Amino acid sequence: MINIVTDQNDNESRDEVHGAGEAFRQRIATVDAQGQRKWVYPKKPAGRYHRARAWVAAFLVVLFFSAPWIKINGHPLLLVNILDRRFSILGVPFWPQDAIYFVIAFISLVVFLLLFTVIWGRLWCGWACPQTIFMEMVFRKIEYLFEGGPSKQRRLKSKPWDFDKLWRKGGKWLTFFVVAFAVANTFMAYFVGTDGFLERISGSPGDHMGAFIGVLSFTGLFYFIFAWFREQACTLLCPYARLQGVLLDNDSVAVTYDFNRGEERMPANKAKKTQLSGDCVDCFSCVKVCPTGIDIRNGIQLECINCTACMDACDTVMDKYNRPRGLIRYASYNMVKNGTRFRFTPRVIGYLVIFAILISVFVTMLVLRSDVETTILRTPGQLFQEVDDGATIQNLYNLKVVNKTYEPMPLHLKLVEPASGKIQIVGTDLRIDAEGILEQAFFVTLPRDILDPLKTPIRIEISNDDGVLETVKTNFMGPAAP
Ligand code: SF4
Ligand code: SF4
Repeated sequence: MINIVTDQNDNESRDEVHGAGEAFRQRIATVDAQGQRKWVYPKKPAGRYHRARAWVAAFLVVLFFSAPWIKINGHPLLLVNILDRRFSILGVPFWPQDAIYFVIAFISLVVFLLLFTVIWGRLWCGWACPQTIFMEMVFRKIEYLFEGGPSKQRRLKSKPWDFDKLWRKGGKWLTFFVVAFAVANTFMAYFVGTDGFLERISGSPGDHMGAFIGVLSFTGLFYFIFAWFREQACTLLCPYARLQGVLLDNDSVAVTYDFNRGEERMPANKAKKTQLSGDCVDCFSCVKVCPTGIDIRNGIQLECINCTACMDACDTVMDKYNRPRGLIRYASYNMVKNGTRFRFTPRVIGYLVIFAILISVFVTMLVLRSDVETTILRTPGQLFQEVDDGATIQNLYNLKVVNKTYEPMPLHLKLVEPASGKIQIVGTDLRIDAEGILEQAFFVTLPRDILDPLKTPIRIEISNDDGVLETVKTNFMGPAAP
């Protein structure tokens, strides 16, 4: 179990304040002393944070299902066609040759996540993670729809099978399956494109057995995760969640219980009789609503996905008792304990600098990215030919050009160094299809008297009608010096 408070004194002082000790850190909240899973029946969340999250989730879910169908200039918003090695991001085509862009983008994303997490904790988990969105905003809602709130769910589970239980459970499982099937199909659309998707779903499964098995497998996987595995995906599987223990520090902002204000916690009727009471009325509303089954009053814990449900629940209680909202709120441990404000720590500044450098490199690379990827290699097995009675020397080259755009284009080759030579294409003029690959041979001829012994460096310019696309360096072979 993680403990993000690195200072032993802080731990001790927190224990004093909570009176809770650290026993809760010895076990995951959803596992009992015998190692059996404790099924979580969270109360329906409600409140301003939940409403805001519901809007964000609705937008993201609609975006997820519609993105494969959204086209920019006729090209997919997002396409990850690994099998055909075709990729499109925001309508811009990318090729396997662009792997370096993905590497830089991936490293930038990791650094951004580190930076974001150090500052804002698990904000991503609560507001944007697909697991949380589908679990809490889609599948959980379906469950409430069919089975009602937590007490009704418990009753339904323990009662014998009758018609009521059958249609409620059956309806829920069927709806889960339909949603999981829709998610799996949408993933397929991301991988094969909408044309490939329509082709596969309109044909018989036997004609597209791979796609059929893939969709069914993913449907089963999503069904398993959202119907049964649930919060364990965050607690046990998610690598990002596992990293929290080393990323968060006492200045990271997260869903936090204000123990200074809340303690001594006690029921309201008891609080009336003492001066020692804090604002927490020990009603357990924050615990009952938690989808990971934890008590946030124990401090930041591995299981907390920052879903804000406890913030809403506690605000409702505070309203009821005419106390200020925010007993559980977005705050860092230091903000609660010492009343400090957010500050840029050296670690945050370090991540910011690294991130700024990476983004600058990435943007520069994107701006300088050529529309074509050119490879020029001397034809294997060929050395050189003497022509014009040995006054000039000829080398044969193989040209390979990848067109990274959606437009066909004519290509021109020009020998820019040494300028006294010439290029002769073998065959017709060069023309490359949209997203096509062109392979062609060509000769370079140079006067013998300008050659270096054995190897002369040359530069060839590749252009289309709009201008120069790339300049490629290679070597020209000639006879050894006499
Ligand atoms: S909801 Fe608020 S008042 Fe109730 S137990 Fe939780 S922190 Fe205390
Ligand atoms: S502790 Fe609060 S924010 Fe964290 S998972 Fe539970 S309800 Fe969500």
